[in-house]
Amino acid sequence: MRKLIFLLATFLITATPTPAGAVDARKGLLELLENLQEGPPTLQPRDFSLPVPTGRTKNWRGTRNHPRELAILVLAGHADSQRLGGSGTPGEAVGIKGATPMDPTITDELYWNLLTAQRIVKIGSERGLNIRYYDPGLRTIRNTNNPRSNWSVGSAHAELGGYVLEIHYDAYSPHGSGAGIIPAVRYEFSRLDEALAEVFGGYPYNYRGMLGAPRRGISMLEIDRLEGVLERNLRDPLSRDASLNAIAERVVQALQNGLADGASGGATRN
Ligand SMILES: [Zn+2]
Repeated sequence: MRKLIFLLATFLITATPTPAGAVDARKGLLELLENLQEGPPTLQPRDFSLPVPTGRTKNWRGTRNHPRELAILVLAGHADSQRLGGSGTPGEAVGIKGATPMDPTITDELYWNLLTAQRIVKIGSERGLNIRYYDPGLRTIRNTNNPRSNWSVGSAHAELGGYVLEIHYDAYSPHGSGAGIIPAVRYEFSRLDEALAEVFGGYPYNYRGMLGAPRRGISMLEIDRLEGVLERNLRDPLSRDASLNAIAERVVQALQNGLADGASGGATRN
């Protein structure tokens, strides 16, 4: 019961769309936790001095179990970094073929990250996952420590035992590396990341010297390169809805697999 209260409280804190409220709620939760003898789950921050392997292949295994009611938070990559260094890929259509951006105020990657993240949460909720979406609202937040930023909200959620997934589309060829999960490295690797790697493939945990989000406990999912048939089907209004559904279904199924594999007392697969 205590665990349940904790997870619910955690979720209310990190998924609320009003940042001021989120800060208050977080304070309230920390007070609540101080009154509990056990406190939050004991997560051991990772030792970053581990030897760093090289290459593009998956070099980790996600073994950390989660309860079935695990609070899952989904973020859209680059949602608060527009007009800054890391605003995301324009996609092949805009970047090479001269198409009009889906929304002139943001990159096409963010446009699809937002819709994909929202669709994952919609379908995940319908499947019974304890899953929420967070959007910082502001499209340019220079200070990543701003309490409203993706990184702040995501790392707080991870710190309290939740799972955080940030959605991305990779740059078009030859720049991007393609589909795959870049696992959060702050704590023990998660079974959810392992399950996502089975579907999408896995990047090395130290990809590009270990990115900011994974260091903060946020896993990054590259759906695929934003190019070719995938991008055409997203841009075509006739196939957009079905494409988003198909992508979101794959993600939700993987999350469900990861929870089923690791749920304590639940079904296990040997
Ligand atoms: Zn991205």
